[in-house]
Amino acid sequence: MNSNKSINKLRSIKTDGFPVTTLYLDVSNSQKLKNSKIVVHNLYKYKKEKTFYKNMDNARIESVEQDINIITKYLNDKISVEEKSLMIISSSNSNIFEIIKFNSKVDNNLVIQDAVYLRPLLEAKSAQRKYGIVLIDQGKAKIFERNFNSVNELFSVENILSNNRNNSGFEGRDERKNERKHEENLHRHYKNVSQSLLEIDKKKKFNWIVLGGKNEIFNDFQKYIDDSQKEKIKTDVVVEPSAKINEVVEIIQKTEPKMRNLFEKNLLDKLNDEFYNDQKGVLGIKQVEEALEEGKVDTLIIKEDFHQKGWICKKCGYSTEDEVNICPRCDNKMKRTVDISDDLVHSALKINADIEYVAIDMGKYDPIAAILRYN
Ligand SMILES: [Zn+2]
Repeated sequence: MNSNKSINKLRSIKTDGFPVTTLYLDVSNSQKLKNSKIVVHNLYKYKKEKTFYKNMDNARIESVEQDINIITKYLNDKISVEEKSLMIISSSNSNIFEIIKFNSKVDNNLVIQDAVYLRPLLEAKSAQRKYGIVLIDQGKAKIFERNFNSVNELFSVENILSNNRNNSGFEGRDERKNERKHEENLHRHYKNVSQSLLEIDKKKKFNWIVLGGKNEIFNDFQKYIDDSQKEKIKTDVVVEPSAKINEVVEIIQKTEPKMRNLFEKNLLDKLNDEFYNDQKGVLGIKQVEEALEEGKVDTLIIKEDFHQKGWICKKCGYSTEDEVNICPRCDNKMKRTVDISDDLVHSALKINADIEYVAIDMGKYDPIAAILRYN
């Protein structure tokens, strides 16, 4: 559940018009997991009172009932969950049942609609953006990808440095020779690591890179890093390079809020530049929705926690917070939505746009804006 590709797979789940039940659960401690069945029961009870539920035909209601049964059974059998949050997707009529676990907290929420409810998942993803970790010393290096709820080792090298300083002969000359050899080895080592980092970053597109190791190494190694990546490296974390990755991640995790903040500031600066210099920025629900419809959006930027009920046209994508029954653009019947933000996210995924939920103050761009591919 790391890439846009897998999220897009969730978006495009086909259910022949049958509803999809999406459940988000906070299971950050064992008591919450224990209570989760009651939570589901209560959320479902509340949904059953709603008009949309009462308007469903028997076959659809049966499918949702089955979803709730399967979910409850799953929770019944569950003794512990390592992660803080669960997302459960079920659409029984189409035999769909999926579980996604992640580590940023969510609010308990049950949504029954014609597609997977993605907004909280994407918010969680923005809370834990993908970044790279480089651990390096004079002889070894490792590169990791930290992404959402996993840490993967992508590169590892151990360089055997020449250290045979006990040769007989003219000590001074040999020492100089060894010194030179050591320098050469070091040069090769740093070059190799920076080259690998460049290649990995090209593929992975890290949002930022954390450099870990000893202070005296950073200065030397930084000289080898490609310019395209230099600005991504913002934090030097002093750790023992041979430490276990779990311990290293624990230390590096503490830099995440600061790095997220920096990343989002840069993102809003970029949006602001595009808005004023190239007219490649838009703001407001209506404008963003239009740009999505035209396939122009490169990055959709939404304020975290922004969700709003409203009305949307499933034919042309027009949405509004007001109760409008007939689409003013295409005369299609409008549909009520529990979360306009979720509908916009679906449209953005459809055209492969990036989606960023932002925690910092968005100023005039609050609550929604977009960077465009072209004007
Ligand atoms: Zn329309």
